[in-house]
Amino acid sequence: MSATVAGQFFDGRQSKPVSARLNPSADGDIIVVRVPDGVMLARASADEYRLSERLGSTPRHVDFPDGGRFETLDHLAMEGVFGRRGGFVHRLESRYRYVFIALVGVVLSSVLTVTYGIPALSEWVAFQLPGNTYQELGEYSLEYLDEHLFEPSNLDATRQSAIQTRFAPTLSEFSRDGMRLKVHFRQLGQANALALPSGDIVFSDAIVKLSENDEELLAVLAHEIGHVARRHAVRRSLQAGILSVAVAMISGDASGLSEVLTSVPIILTQLGYSRDMEREADDFALRFLQTHHIPTHRFVDLMSRMDDDPDCRDKPGCTDPGWMDYVSTHPGTNERLQRFRNPR
Ligand SMILES: [Zn+2]
Repeated sequence: MSATVAGQFFDGRQSKPVSARLNPSADGDIIVVRVPDGVMLARASADEYRLSERLGSTPRHVDFPDGGRFETLDHLAMEGVFGRRGGFVHRLESRYRYVFIALVGVVLSSVLTVTYGIPALSEWVAFQLPGNTYQELGEYSLEYLDEHLFEPSNLDATRQSAIQTRFAPTLSEFSRDGMRLKVHFRQLGQANALALPSGDIVFSDAIVKLSENDEELLAVLAHEIGHVARRHAVRRSLQAGILSVAVAMISGDASGLSEVLTSVPIILTQLGYSRDMEREADDFALRFLQTHHIPTHRFVDLMSRMDDDPDCRDKPGCTDPGWMDYVSTHPGTNERLQRFRNPR
């Protein structure tokens, strides 16, 4: 390299710079000499000096270990000596290609945040909330649904109490401190079951009537308990309102959080669970049926019947959002039915 760079040298002691010239030595060091007499001002090897990035047209400098600094505006000559290494920042800002790549990066990371980050964060928050939050939330949700969506059950009391008796051991098996599982019967119009965050699980009259034996209802119960145990309703609501939660956390204003929590019943009935959540609830039901020696096909027997139910077919929202997956012709359905017909 024979290139030299003209500039100024600050020795670090006097504020006034002197005219200087920078050039590489034969053994790869960087040398700064005074102009015009050629007295050496500074010398450093590649791992001793620090080269500033090129940033637009601002002066570029080389710092030496003893406090001296060489400064220049001759960017072209600097590149002649140092090559393009160290000039990454400049290249970034001067080339739209990199700006575009950066933009794609931002969009991609946003998508990843929404796809993975928010569900993960929602899960974490859902398991941090104290038990009484769930109790209050559940009571509120049931009240809301009773007011807006549900009608009192028409099932006769004997049938109801027979099912309750059949369910009792399972409900107590999975009840926890702060989360007591309880089954309610309501008229919802269609064959349906719904789990509230508090552990209140609602069975529609229609699903009870459609069932051919109590094991089928027990299978549905296990699936719904899976949703409760994995806190799906709250996680789903948090996912939908995570921004309000973030704002609440930053501003200390809890009204955003309570808004999210009160949206649970609406989320449950309108938005439904994610496919992953349904799979988790399926896993739970499958394990339950196997450990209690109940034929796993009971679960899908009932679903297939719902599928054939003329009142239900082609009606969006006919079933609970979770059920929609089972009865729709979505490709996922067959896979899930397969799991319960031929469990490993
Ligand atoms: Zn479900």
